[in-house]
Amino acid sequence: MKRDNNNELSRRGFLKKAGLLGLSVAGAGALMEVVFGDDVLAASAAESSAAVRWAMVVDMTKCAGRDACTDCMTACHRAHNVPSIKSRRHEIKWIWKEPFVNAFPELRGGRLRADLAKTDFIVLCNHCDNPPCVRVCPTKATWRRPDGIVMMDMHRCIGCRYCMAACPYGSRSFNWMDPRKALDEKAINQDYPTRTKGVVEKCDFCAERVDHGRLPVCVEACKEKALAFGNLSDAKSNVSKLCAGRFAIRRKPELGTRPEVYYIV
Ligand code: SF4
Ligand code: SF4
Repeated sequence: MKRDNNNELSRRGFLKKAGLLGLSVAGAGALMEVVFGDDVLAASAAESSAAVRWAMVVDMTKCAGRDACTDCMTACHRAHNVPSIKSRRHEIKWIWKEPFVNAFPELRGGRLRADLAKTDFIVLCNHCDNPPCVRVCPTKATWRRPDGIVMMDMHRCIGCRYCMAACPYGSRSFNWMDPRKALDEKAINQDYPTRTKGVVEKCDFCAERVDHGRLPVCVEACKEKALAFGNLSDAKSNVSKLCAGRFAIRRKPELGTRPEVYYIV
């Protein structure tokens, strides 16, 4: 990768490798992508012809207004041994709530429904169809599976944090301190590995469950059934049907990352 005279990573070279350079211009037409009903399926089919294309649909009409509810987040973090660290600098997040204006900055000042501006949206790794985080990783510690899940191998991660710089959604966290020290030893899920200081981590779409025919733990935990998970390549799947006839938006479509998390608004 190109470096400048100060031997620092060239930002231009980095963005080029991440595939984000020029997208703000090329993607200007997609600055506000609102897909309606069957257009979700059409757009999805155009992006990938894979037989299995895992996607999540968050129905914000069911989630909005339940500000005190943390069921999906608590279940995910418990299942994946995500430490609860209060400091903003050190916190680890796989799934969390973000004010609408932060989650969809490109829609700020628009004329969507007024209540949306006051709504906190559930956000997580988007398991992008075109993930810049994967392209910049020098050790192939993060990669995209054929079914679309963007994986992490914490043993291969050298902690350079290039992937964090490349992710435009802040979906990755870095273990600045030993995460095991922040876990309740008695509550550790022995079926999922803990991590060490100096590695990056993020949501894995519960690949360890999905591969055994189970739903992601956040989907199971939501009593309102606001979260759905399924195969977007199958027109008869739950996620395809859910989007049919509804308005769905994705985060930062202008960047060309093609997120696989859709929000029904
Ligand atoms: S949301 Fe970020 S971490 Fe997740 S696949 Fe997209 S670019 Fe990578
Ligand atoms: S921090 Fe780890 S996963 Fe991210 S780019 Fe560096 S080696 Fe790859």
